[in-house]
Amino acid sequence: SDKQKLDIIKENIKAFEDFPKPGIIFRDIFSVLADPSLFKLLHEVLLSHVKEIQPPVEYICGVDSRGFIFGSILAVFLRVPFIPIRKKGKLPGPVDSITYELEYGQDTLEIQTNIIKEGGRVLIVDDLLATGGTLWAAAMLISNLKAEVVECLTIIELLDLKGRNKIPFPVYSLIQF
Ligand code: AMP
Repeated sequence: SDKQKLDIIKENIKAFEDFPKPGIIFRDIFSVLADPSLFKLLHEVLLSHVKEIQPPVEYICGVDSRGFIFGSILAVFLRVPFIPIRKKGKLPGPVDSITYELEYGQDTLEIQTNIIKEGGRVLIVDDLLATGGTLWAAAMLISNLKAEVVECLTIIELLDLKGRNKIPFPVYSLIQF
């Protein structure tokens, strides 16, 4: 079952203490991708989740940079556009921007202007939900385009940080720590 697959994946996500800063336990999703059989299990669970979203989503937005990996897989499967949300200065042409607070300082995310139609149904994808600042900013970019944030999907959620409370849209995570 999906539950059993997720238990196996969870056991195999490597944790690195004090990376990138003291006090942080870094959950390394790339340790799963490095094992083809685990990546296959994750792929299967992701597809079985998005298959159930009704009505279907019309766009996948992947968040820089690990959201690109999982978002791409889903976009190919659903046959919908893949749209990147990137860190400042990476996207060509006119862009919409949003600046958000980090633990120390701030960061800016961008999306190409008018790349999503008004009312379009969007699934936002990232690898991990921590404080929720990143997904909040991504969701605001989409709602500022007058599109609909159907769901914010992450592989991992760090429950202690209560990041989902910051996000005024449905949030779904596969694995929780
Ligand atoms: P946040 O904006 O606080 O929700 O942080 C989310 C982003 O930071 C995600 O895209 C993750 O890639 C990264 N991140 C934050 N905390 C961790 C962690 N403990 N382990 C791995 N990645 C993390």
